[in-house]
Amino acid sequence: MELFKSMGKYDYEQLVFMHDEESGLKAITCIHDTTLGPSLGGTRYWTYENEEDAIEDAMRLARGMTYKAAASGLPLGGGKTVIIKDPDKQVNQEALFRAFGRFVEGLNGRYITAADVGTTTIEMDYIYQETDFVAGTGHKPGTSGNPSPSTAHGVYIGIKAAAKKAFGSNSLEGRRILVEGVGKVGYLLAEAALEEGAKVYATDIFEGPRERARELGCEIVEADKLLDIEADIYAPCAMGGSINDESLPKLKKAGVKVIAGSANNQLAEPRHGDKLDEMGLVYAPDYIVNAGGLIQVADEFYGGYKAERARMSVNRIYDQIEKVFEIADRDGVPTYKAANTLAEERIKAVRNTKSIFARSNKSVIDR
Ligand code: NAD
Repeated sequence: MELFKSMGKYDYEQLVFMHDEESGLKAITCIHDTTLGPSLGGTRYWTYENEEDAIEDAMRLARGMTYKAAASGLPLGGGKTVIIKDPDKQVNQEALFRAFGRFVEGLNGRYITAADVGTTTIEMDYIYQETDFVAGTGHKPGTSGNPSPSTAHGVYIGIKAAAKKAFGSNSLEGRRILVEGVGKVGYLLAEAALEEGAKVYATDIFEGPRERARELGCEIVEADKLLDIEADIYAPCAMGGSINDESLPKLKKAGVKVIAGSANNQLAEPRHGDKLDEMGLVYAPDYIVNAGGLIQVADEFYGGYKAERARMSVNRIYDQIEKVFEIADRDGVPTYKAANTLAEERIKAVRNTKSIFARSNKSVIDR
């Protein structure tokens, strides 16, 4: 892998490799862009086929965080960490994550970490023993805890904004919604939609979540049958890539008019976003709709988390989605491209202001 060539492709700022033999730490932090503020992104603790895959994952995810923060109006840049997990090795979790925390401290605020796949508030608490540059811990004063309720609320708000565009009304009363994956986010989304009087069809690959959703009032469907049901809205809240060659004809046949959900990277390939546009579906881009958790975590840096303030910020997802639709109409492009434009326009505008001399280059969250 030609690292600098890869970094040049999307203008990455920094790749940090961290190693500690004693604890078994092998970590890669990627800082994509800090124009808008310090980079923030979770730490993924995962097993990879090889080191190249781990580097690519860190880079792809860090860039995604730049776009998510920028499009959400946050004073943050994009970064991400992957810690390579060796499935054959017993490690001391505390030592591993504290070692990592010391390296994060060494980055002196250029990167702030949080939980991601394979990490929880427990690991964040270990990191917090060594650095303040961590959010979503269990014990740090002013921490915000589990981000899923904010993510779910943001998705709910995003669905309403998309419904307004598709149906002329943002009410979900009587709407038929397909929720794919009723885990931490999907379950809460289903709950909010049911409360507003929607009919929710839900699926999951596991019986536990299915049962909980059934008790909530959802109609449960087999995972491979969800898109056979006639519906207005499809909310992918499981894994990425669910908008693909196979699902597109089914979505059309089901009569779905709106797609908005929490899953990251919903489009299997960009061309599927083009296809949605041609089909006349309203697609609310994933990283705008699912930014609620990031917005919540970022709120911690304004002198400690305030739930009411964070909720107000999450509610702005509605306006951000409307802005995306405006840009899509203005430029005659599909919404996934309009979302990128929204993020890039903001970064470009702020980057231009950096040519003005200021004694302190501190970001708003450092004050
Ligand atoms: P979760 O693991 O709690 O829930 C996901 C659910 O999807 C699980 O119950 C799982 O069994 C189910 N599932 C997996 N594959 C499926 C399939 N093929 N069909 C149907 N169900 C399937 O995860 P979560 O925290 O609810 O996150 C859901 C999605 O939203 C993920 O893609 C995640 O990356 C994304 N996301 C979550 C947050 C957050 O705050 N939790 C923030 C941003 C993005």
